[in-house]
Amino acid sequence: MCGIIGIVSRSRQVASDMYYGLYGLQHRGKESAGMVTSECGEKCCFQGEMGEIPIVFSKKILERLSGNVGIAQNRYSTTSESSFENIQPIQGYWGGEEFWIAHNGNLINTEDLREYCLNKGRQPSADSDTAAIASLISLTSAFSFEQAVKKTIQKLRGAFSLVILYKDRIIVVRDSLGIRPLCLGKRKDGYIVASETCALHHMGATLIREIDPGEISVINRAGIKKYYHPSVTARKFCIFELIYFSRPDSIVLGRRVGDVQENMGRLLAQEHPAEADIVIPIPDSGNYGGWGFIEVSKIPNGQKAILRTHLISRTFIEAVQELRDQGVDLKFVILKEKVMGKRVVLIDDSVVRGTTQKRLVKWLRAAGAKEIHARIFSPPYMYPCYYGIDTYRVKDELIAKRNKGDIEKIRQELGLDSLEYLSLDLAIKAIIETPCVRKPCISLKPDNFCAACFNSRYPVKPSKIN
Ligand code: SF4
Repeated sequence: MCGIIGIVSRSRQVASDMYYGLYGLQHRGKESAGMVTSECGEKCCFQGEMGEIPIVFSKKILERLSGNVGIAQNRYSTTSESSFENIQPIQGYWGGEEFWIAHNGNLINTEDLREYCLNKGRQPSADSDTAAIASLISLTSAFSFEQAVKKTIQKLRGAFSLVILYKDRIIVVRDSLGIRPLCLGKRKDGYIVASETCALHHMGATLIREIDPGEISVINRAGIKKYYHPSVTARKFCIFELIYFSRPDSIVLGRRVGDVQENMGRLLAQEHPAEADIVIPIPDSGNYGGWGFIEVSKIPNGQKAILRTHLISRTFIEAVQELRDQGVDLKFVILKEKVMGKRVVLIDDSVVRGTTQKRLVKWLRAAGAKEIHARIFSPPYMYPCYYGIDTYRVKDELIAKRNKGDIEKIRQELGLDSLEYLSLDLAIKAIIETPCVRKPCISLKPDNFCAACFNSRYPVKPSKIN
């Protein structure tokens, strides 16, 4: 899971815009960040570093990044390590001209693609799937760069939303199932693409539409041109984007993410009611679902019982367990007097490793809570994801998988008095029935989602499923 941005302006330097846009996408990856700019197709300027946005880009660096066209990325490593070589955007050459590429998603045939490149005498610049894509484009003969991109895309398997900077333009690509998000926005001076609409907001742009599954479009100073636009035959959008990844104010599939989560919380309260004195939504990712649960259950809102310190951001995307544990302890503080002697229901979006819930249960017991129940507004996260989260590398850490989906065993491991999950059917119903805030509304069917981490139905089959 990463955040990507592409911007073409007729009149402005774009580095500062991308800085704010990347800030808005920081929740999608914080291991490294990079951006590259180009002045009317002249030589590109690049800056990339390990760390979060304020560490990577100083005012001085942003001033050096001149140009009115640019792409940028926040990285959360998936196929390869978190290292300097894998910082994006990644550079390539086609027909003697440089291009740069930034990717959100994950390919499942990276090894095959790397082998193909090596057999053709080209060593990808890094071990990531994105570096393999860059090498493939470099190796592809075609009458135009756009045609080379189109030919390359046909070799890719998995999830990919791409922004590619070439001369004075950006090529925007989304895989044919539209697994990862990508949206198009407009400002007076040009066009912007971003992983989420929250980034458009921070860059002063308004949403025009989502980039369609399978679409390849070219954006330059003259506007946006659909280069290749097959009809959408299947949509398999990542359901976990709506449960956890995307920011609640983002608009995905025409719906506000927070509204979707609130709906999930309402259905959770109907499916799995609880007897309790207070409901505590675990901030921030459990907030909206928690508010929906409170609305239906009529149990008093206990959100003041937990303080999120903001000393630390998302713990799920920390690469090391010890850091995740410390992260949870730094992130949350329980206010003892608000939980002492009370029956508490914790609401969370998901339980992946169980790190957050285990630590919170420990602190709640220490604070004197009488009973601790948990209600989760997604099904048990059982199977690894191969399309952009590294759970395929840490499959043994998935608490539901380790307990073979036995909810009673998971409950015991977490130390809870009761534990229930929203069923997949109701999670999907909650999305479909959430009113659109954008017209025309994208009409959705239950099979329009990838939910493989819940049901193991992988829309693009990995060669080996663990
Ligand atoms: S497996 Fe899960 S996290 Fe991965 S794309 Fe599918 S729904 Fe999203």
